[in-house]
Amino acid sequence: MDTLTTAGSIPEGHRLLNGRSRADDLRSKVLGKPLLFIQFSDKLLTKDRRFRKYYEAAYRKVQGYHLPEHFMEIPYWIPVISGVLPADLERSLLIVENIDSAIETINLKFRDHVIFISVLDANEEFVRRLIVHTGNHFILGGYTKKEWYENNGRCIYLSRIAELPDIFPSSNPDRPPEYSLFDGLECLPRLTLSTGCAFQCRFCTDIPLTVRETSEEAISSSVSAMRKLKFRYIYLDDKSFGQAKNVESLSWIGREVRSYNAEFDGFVVQSPPALALKGGNLERWRELGVRIIESGIELVDDDFLRTMNKAYRETHLPEFAAKVRRNGFLLVPNIIIGFPGSDYTKTIAFVQDNLDIIPWVNINYFSVHNNNVRGALALTARNNLDGDQNIANKSWSTEKSFADGEAAIEKLYELTRTIVFAGSAA
Ligand code: SF4
Repeated sequence: MDTLTTAGSIPEGHRLLNGRSRADDLRSKVLGKPLLFIQFSDKLLTKDRRFRKYYEAAYRKVQGYHLPEHFMEIPYWIPVISGVLPADLERSLLIVENIDSAIETINLKFRDHVIFISVLDANEEFVRRLIVHTGNHFILGGYTKKEWYENNGRCIYLSRIAELPDIFPSSNPDRPPEYSLFDGLECLPRLTLSTGCAFQCRFCTDIPLTVRETSEEAISSSVSAMRKLKFRYIYLDDKSFGQAKNVESLSWIGREVRSYNAEFDGFVVQSPPALALKGGNLERWRELGVRIIESGIELVDDDFLRTMNKAYRETHLPEFAAKVRRNGFLLVPNIIIGFPGSDYTKTIAFVQDNLDIIPWVNINYFSVHNNNVRGALALTARNNLDGDQNIANKSWSTEKSFADGEAAIEKLYELTRTIVFAGSAA
């Protein structure tokens, strides 16, 4: 953090305060005020519409998958934060498609509101414009640098949700997500059975190494909180489903959801091939109601998988695909594009050979995160874009590696977008 001496040059009203005195200062100013959650629309943030168009086509293949107009899925941070904050405060949601209109709307309609934003590299420029052109107080969180915000007396940048009670004393970080701002929305709600992941993939982001199970009470409250949403599947956001011991909870969770949602079809999980193949995991998961498996296939190439310490090898794939097929799952491969020297031939062949079980693929660009506990790669992030899995051009990209990656995406999209899908998750 900067020193207080630096603050001497900052205009009045923009004084630097340390985290604690900032919270003390804000507490009285936000007391009893209504809350405004701001989410930036994909239409504003994503210039490359190719990905969205792809999912619009691909999601039609599986009943129950929805692409809301402004985001890929409910921005989960909003129900999470809304759940923690005092229940008696009025809540509103503003989706920002145009930054000038948003500034006007805030100044006309939401002048008294306390504004919450999740700050990302992709929206940071817009966040700063909102702060500069409005007079509201802002509660921010995210993975960007905090300094700019710490120089503004109307902002606080929190590192953890557990800090919210410093500003809103009657908030409670143990409360479940609260979805009232999304009532009636067709979506794929998220549920967390556990946090953390014990695998050691070198490219992984900042995820704790220790797997911690969510308490039954918290899971049950989260399940009840979803009752006004419209959904067929629940997305379990456990990083590697099958690591935590509470997978058996799916049986009572399924019963509880069906008690209020007759359309419920089952769960979507994320798990790497080696874990899914372990023992009778896939068979048991099917009995428990899992229907769709997202799996980090990444790049089908043992050299890459070894370098990345990924929990599977090429030899696992035929058995994995066969068991997925036999048990009636759908498989969504997560694929990494852009690691130097990647050859995508075997990855494309794997998808092509299994189009009856693969409705679509998820593409991420290879990115690195400095100080990542699982890191130790030969590459380091030289700028924000190097750490962004949605950005193709990295400091280590060459013309050839970029062109190879884009050609691979085109091929994978062409295969999964145009083939009439024969599978079913039912
Ligand atoms: S990328 Fe690897 S380490 Fe990270 S969450 Fe997934 S399986 Fe775990």
